[in-house]
Amino acid sequence: MSTEKAATFDCPECDVSAPSTSVPYDSLGYVVCPVCGYAATPNAEDSPVAERSPSAGD
Ligand SMILES: [Zn+2]
Repeated sequence: MSTEKAATFDCPECDVSAPSTSVPYDSLGYVVCPVCGYAATPNAEDSPVAERSPSAGD
């Protein structure tokens, strides 16, 4: 479910919403949450299920 229509940054950490034009970006060009400092990386959004999936590498 993408929200590119509004270009709004929604922080998964503190649940804050802000226009992408009013939030800071890191050196890599990723949005950084102005409230908690969470950096939105493409890897985190690309595999949200794998992060919660129990690893069988034990
Ligand atoms: Zn945040």
